[in-house]
Amino acid sequence: MLIPKKIRTYCPSCRKHTEHNVSQLKKRSARKLSWGQRQFSRVTAGYGSQPRSEQKKFSKTAKKVVLMLKCKECKKSRPHKGFRSKSVKFGE
Ligand SMILES: [Zn+2]
Repeated sequence: MLIPKKIRTYCPSCRKHTEHNVSQLKKRSARKLSWGQRQFSRVTAGYGSQPRSEQKKFSKTAKKVVLMLKCKECKKSRPHKGFRSKSVKFGE
């Protein structure tokens, strides 16, 4: 799927349509001290592996893509609505 690098859309903080830079939101590394991550590292520590068996069969073939929109005027960024796509390319 080809997505333009710049789009003109509504900015909630400027309260008008402005030019936005578009980029893909990528998964960040987990915070080591967050509650869920501490729980998970406690369970996986020592012998034995995953607390639940790994999922190997997937019914869906495409992954969800979230686009990040950054306003050129106020420099604020916000996530766009997610959608499913097998591959995302930025062009034009
Ligand atoms: Zn703005």
